[in-house]
Amino acid sequence: MIQFPLRLVSAHMIAPAVRHMVFERADDEPFAFIPGQFMQIHFHYADGKPTKRSYSVGTVGSGDATPIRQIEIAVSYVDGGAATELLGSLQVGDSVDASGPYGRFCLMDADSNSRYLLVATGTGVTPYRAMLPLITKLTRSRGCSFELIYGARNEGDLLYGDEFAAFAETTPGFGFHPCFSREPRAVPRAGDRNGRVQVAIEALKPDAATDIVYLCGNPDMVDESFSLLKEAGLPVPQIRREKYISSR
Ligand SMILES: Cc1cc2nc3c(=O)[nH]c(=O)nc-3n(C[C@H](O)[C@H](O)[C@H](O)COP(=O)(O)OP(=O)(O)OC[C@H]3O[C@@H](n4cnc5c(N)ncnc54)[C@H](O)[C@@H]3O)c2cc1C
Repeated sequence: MIQFPLRLVSAHMIAPAVRHMVFERADDEPFAFIPGQFMQIHFHYADGKPTKRSYSVGTVGSGDATPIRQIEIAVSYVDGGAATELLGSLQVGDSVDASGPYGRFCLMDADSNSRYLLVATGTGVTPYRAMLPLITKLTRSRGCSFELIYGARNEGDLLYGDEFAAFAETTPGFGFHPCFSREPRAVPRAGDRNGRVQVAIEALKPDAATDIVYLCGNPDMVDESFSLLKEAGLPVPQIRREKYISSR
């Protein structure tokens, strides 16, 4: 596997425990990815043992295979986490080793469904952010619709919420359904839902004849939503999953 250095060019907190980080390849080589893919950061534990962690690429690119200059990720801090410590303390100008892109959690040319349900919790929404340009293209070329069902504990944890809301305003066929599991928004907005994403999935009445569903983020959410969708009659190939678990 080919590794390359990434230099941190900017970073800021987008939630109390989530850092949006912007990298560029320090070797100036191109980086092309398909929206939905992730990359890996390689580092060593304190005892010298090598390890790696995966992060979805969240860059809003052109929607085709044109290489991107800036590789954006959102890192959710985990107490005592090794990568959390590394990435949480990385300063602008510092470099880390990376590889990729990897993964097949992508929109597929061969699909002909009329509706997509995109479901996420936490940083699991990042791949959908990268898909936005493709979503614009698909709503136009295939006339299909997209419903983004996004779960956060509260308003402060809703990542890129204003970006998705603005995209929904300007993109016919794209619906945004923020779901607040612990605390409603201070000033609720149209489309807000209080409760977990599963409630919003059920309200949208998943239908095997029309739907392909993507599930990304917390493994429990992915498993519970998967069961719910199967019970609703969706065949497994129409349910695509990306679970955010730690690799060792
Ligand atoms: C395909 C893929 C894409 C991913 N994309 C992203 C992404 O875009 N953004 C992102 O933030 N993460 C993402 N992850 C998760 C990420 O790779 C790391 O697992 C995460 O950052 C924690 O790593 P860590 O080294 O800080 O914690 P670790 O050292 O691995 O774990 C420390 C402790 O926390 C526990 N733990 C680990 N993760 C969690 C969690 N999520 N919630 C609660 N406890 C946990 C572990 O079991 C362990 O006990 C992705 C994972 C996969 C497989």
